[in-house]
Amino acid sequence: MLYDAIVIGAGFAGLTAARTLIERGKKVLLLEARDRVGGRVYTHHFADGTYIDLGGQWIGPTQDRIYALAKEMKVPVFATYNEGKKTIALNGKLKLYSGLIPKIDVASLLNIDYVLKRLDKLASRVVPDKPWQTPDARRLDSATLASFLDRHVWFGNARQVLEAGFDTVFACTPAEISILQALFYIKSGTNLNTLLNIENGAQQHRFEGGAQTVANRLSKCFEAHILLNSPVTHILQTETSVQVITRNAQTHTALRVIVAIPPALCARITYTPPLPPLRDQLTQRVPMGTVIKCYAIYPTPFWRANGHSGQVVADDAYHLQTTFDNSPPDASRGILMGFCLAHRARKLLALPPQERQHQIMQNFIAFFGKAAEKPLLYTEKCWAEEEWTRGCYTGMMPPGAWTNFTDALTRPVGRIHWAGTETAAVWNGYIEGAMQSGQRAAQEVMDMES
Ligand SMILES: Cc1cc2nc3c(=O)[nH]c(=O)nc-3n(C[C@H](O)[C@H](O)[C@H](O)COP(=O)(O)OP(=O)(O)OC[C@H]3O[C@@H](n4cnc5c(N)ncnc54)[C@H](O)[C@@H]3O)c2cc1C
Repeated sequence: MLYDAIVIGAGFAGLTAARTLIERGKKVLLLEARDRVGGRVYTHHFADGTYIDLGGQWIGPTQDRIYALAKEMKVPVFATYNEGKKTIALNGKLKLYSGLIPKIDVASLLNIDYVLKRLDKLASRVVPDKPWQTPDARRLDSATLASFLDRHVWFGNARQVLEAGFDTVFACTPAEISILQALFYIKSGTNLNTLLNIENGAQQHRFEGGAQTVANRLSKCFEAHILLNSPVTHILQTETSVQVITRNAQTHTALRVIVAIPPALCARITYTPPLPPLRDQLTQRVPMGTVIKCYAIYPTPFWRANGHSGQVVADDAYHLQTTFDNSPPDASRGILMGFCLAHRARKLLALPPQERQHQIMQNFIAFFGKAAEKPLLYTEKCWAEEEWTRGCYTGMMPPGAWTNFTDALTRPVGRIHWAGTETAAVWNGYIEGAMQSGQRAAQEVMDMES
């Protein structure tokens, strides 16, 4: 059978691309390496009905595609729990605070405000679909976000709070990304307030039944077009078609291919003929972030009774940068979720699972007291251990990548088109961005074949 298009990867990007093409009457095959759809969106369901999102979970204002899809798939959203006091864990002390402003010295607060405003102002100038054309792009791309912080942060507390916040947004240290990448990411998600906040921000809503429910239901609409357990190992282009070969030695042929996986994974596929050098070298330069998403599950959200939101921001003395209340909407369980990210996650990667669990649990106990000592269950997901993801939330551009490789991230190579949240101009790194990239790649295919 000759397909009009083969889509590789059944995350939100691949599912969106496949659906868009099928709706336009195209013959489509969607190949997925795992035994499930959803990719970086993955919900685990326990026998008692409790569920946890081990991957992507939140959506917020301006993410119109995913809100519309959730509505269409009849997956209700609910507000992220955001009531009560928060904790800041800094310099060996825990302090409670209300609202958005942590209880730290005024000089640090003013410094944080200055840095956030300055980054937002610079981000407003970014050209989102061509970041390399941003005014002063070369300079912004030749230094790291860390060097920006070195210049503009003058107080230790301000640096600790900013780094915990940026680690949580980017899932890598400020030393790993260029200033241009940071500004592009901020612009693609509107501004820093939107990225950092729950209310009116990217963390505003969660999905009833978990985020993967949306992907599962979407995939049911065109189930017959999807082959699971089919990791693609080789893409072979001829003048007239493309052959896609899977690890289980199946060959499928199409006029066009959409590769809807992160650049770091694109680099693990063999291409015949080899990819052009710019594209190949680009894929050597977009590493995935490092995240261990940690869960402690309790019979009730006991912290709420004490007027606590479940939210903590913690300095380098802890493994977890931030925590959130991830209980279900009816609070039938109390679920604390902690992000162990970037350098803090890398420190724990080599530890045996039991030791890792012990270390993380010590953090939950330090933040929430004796009541946190005995969860019904502790569990975690380390995305760097996942063969078909190899880190998260997303691939990030280090210094030099945007300005040296420009459109190599998205420019089709013959009959191969590129999708995935890393290629999105809006909400890059998020579910919404994945969907936008899938629509864009599907449109490219239709434009070529019309
Ligand atoms: C812990 C975590 C927290 C996050 N939090 C949020 C959040 O709260 N909100 C938000 O919007 N986003 C969040 N994200 C990011 C979001 O999940 C991703 O941006 C989005 O899901 C990416 O979708 P995608 O389709 O581009 O890629 P993926 O979801 O990675 O899909 C790619 C698919 O391709 C498959 N694949 C890979 N290689 C091959 C191959 N060779 N052959 C065949 N198939 C292959 C993979 O198995 C996968 O299913 C989070 C991610 C993680 C991991």
